[in-house]
Amino acid sequence: MASTAETLSNFIDGESVPFAGGETEAVLNPATGEELAHAPVSGPEDVDRAVRAARAAFDGWSTTTPAQRSQALLALADLIEEHGGEIARLEALNAGKPIEAVRNDEIPVMADNLRFFAGAARCLEGRAAGEYMEGYTSFTRREAVGVIGQVTPWNYPLMMAIWKLAPAIAAGNTVVLKPAETTPITTVRFAELAADILPKGVLNVVTGPGRPTGEALISHPDVDMLGLTGSVDTGKHFARTAADTLKRVHLELGGKAPVVVFDDVSMESAMETIAGTGYYNAGQDCTAATRVLAAGKVYDDVVSGLVEQARGLVIGDTLAPETTLGPVNSARQRERVAGFLERRPAHAEIVTGGAQPDRPGFYLEPTVVAGLQQDDEMIQREIFGPVITVQRFSDEQQAIAWANATRYGLASSVWTRDVGRALRVAKALRFGCVWINDHIPLVSEMPHGGFKESGYGKDLSVYSLEDYTVVKHVMASLQ
Ligand code: NAD
Repeated sequence: MASTAETLSNFIDGESVPFAGGETEAVLNPATGEELAHAPVSGPEDVDRAVRAARAAFDGWSTTTPAQRSQALLALADLIEEHGGEIARLEALNAGKPIEAVRNDEIPVMADNLRFFAGAARCLEGRAAGEYMEGYTSFTRREAVGVIGQVTPWNYPLMMAIWKLAPAIAAGNTVVLKPAETTPITTVRFAELAADILPKGVLNVVTGPGRPTGEALISHPDVDMLGLTGSVDTGKHFARTAADTLKRVHLELGGKAPVVVFDDVSMESAMETIAGTGYYNAGQDCTAATRVLAAGKVYDDVVSGLVEQARGLVIGDTLAPETTLGPVNSARQRERVAGFLERRPAHAEIVTGGAQPDRPGFYLEPTVVAGLQQDDEMIQREIFGPVITVQRFSDEQQAIAWANATRYGLASSVWTRDVGRALRVAKALRFGCVWINDHIPLVSEMPHGGFKESGYGKDLSVYSLEDYTVVKHVMASLQ
C-alpha cells in the first residue's frame, strides 16, 4: 500500500471500509512533491459510522481487565517493531523525514510508549477505601471516559497517534482518530495491522482535513472527550466546540522553546546539541530548540557555533542514510516559514541559510537569524521550520523575563555549569518542561504538556493515563 498512488481506506469497526463518497485528496511526498496516495475526505456520515463503532465497542473494552489491555498493548509494541522497516519507510516518504531518524528514534519510542502504558494500565492508583461518615464506607473507582475523538498533526504522524491512543486504550476507552490530512498513511497502516490484536471498534481511523472531517468528529454528540496535538488556534477551536456538549478536552499545542545559554557552558558541545535539536525534523517539533537567548559575553560564539553546525547538515533524499535535514512537510508550510524570513525587521540578520535549495520538494536551508528583539514576530510566533533565532541578554533576570514573554509554555532549556543558577532558572521558567544542559529528550515515564497557550492535559506518563479516566465515588451504607 501507498507505494503507488492508490486510495487509502478508512479503518472502522475492525476493517478497511470505503468512504461514503465525495472527494479524495492527494497525499504527497514532501521530498519530491510527487503523489504517494489519495485519502478520502471523509464526511459526517463516515465519522458517524466510526463513532458508532467505537461506542458499540466501549462496553466490552472498558470491562476487560487491565491485564488483558496490557497484553494487547504489548502485542502492539511488538507489531511496531516487527513492521519497523515498513513503517519507517512510509513515514520517511510521507512526512519528509530522514529515514534513519524514524528508524532509530521514532520506532523505538513508539514501542517503548506502548510498553509503558501496558505496565501503567495495571498500576492505576487512588485513595484507599475508608469510613468518612459514620455507618458508611467510601471508595473511588477510576473508569474510562468513553469514546475519545483524537486528532493528530503531521510532524510525527504515527508517534503522535501512539502517544494519544496508547493511554486512551490502556484506560479502557475506545478511539476515533483523525490523522493530519498531509500524513495519514502510517496511521491507517497501523490500524490495519492492529486489527488482529484489538477487538473491532476499539481503534477507528478516518482520514480527511480539519473541515469537514475533523469538525464532524469534534462536534459529534456521542464523543465524550477530545484530544488534539496541533496548533494553538485549532486547540482554542476544540475547546469552544467542546463547550456545547461539555466534552472533556486534552490539548497538546504549539511551543516556542527558549534556550537560555549562560557564559559558562562548554560551547562546542552545547552548540552541537542545540543545533541538532533545533534542526531535528527540519525544526518541525513543538519543543524544537529554535529560540536561543545568549549571554552578552558568549553571544558571538553562540551565533558562529550555530552557523557552523547549520552548515554541516546534509540536505538530501529522505531515504538516503546520510541525510540529516529533510524538507518541511508541505508547500504551504514552506511558504509559511519563508514568510517569516521575508517579513523580518531591518535589525534582523540572516547569518546563514534563508534560501530554498535548488531541488524538487519542499526543502529550506538551515537558517540562523541573529540580532532579534523580544517583540519581533520571529520571537513571538512559532515558525515550525529549520530556523534558529538568537537574542542577546544582559543578565539572568532579563533572560528569564524574555524566555517567559511569549504566549507559549511547552518546553525550555537552561545551559550553565552553575547548579544554583540552573535550579533558580528552572523554577522561574513557565514551561511544562525544563531541560538543564540538554534539550528535547523525553521519556515515557515523565509528563509532556504545556502551560499557558501550549494547552492542558499531559501526554506520556501516568498523568496521561489519568487524563483518560474519570473518578467515581461509591458510598456504601453499612446498615
Ligand atoms: P493544525 O492545528 O493545523 O492541525 C492539527 C490537526 O488538527 C490536523 O489533523 C488538522 O486536520 C486538525 N484540524 C484543523 N482544524 C480542525 C478543525 N476545525 N476541527 C478538527 N480538526 C482540525 O496544526 P498543524 O499545523 O497540522 O501541526 C503543527 C502544530 O502542532 C504546531 O503548532 C505544533 O507545535 C503542534 N504540535 C504540538 C505538539 C505537542 O506535543 N504539544 C506536538 C506536535 C505538534
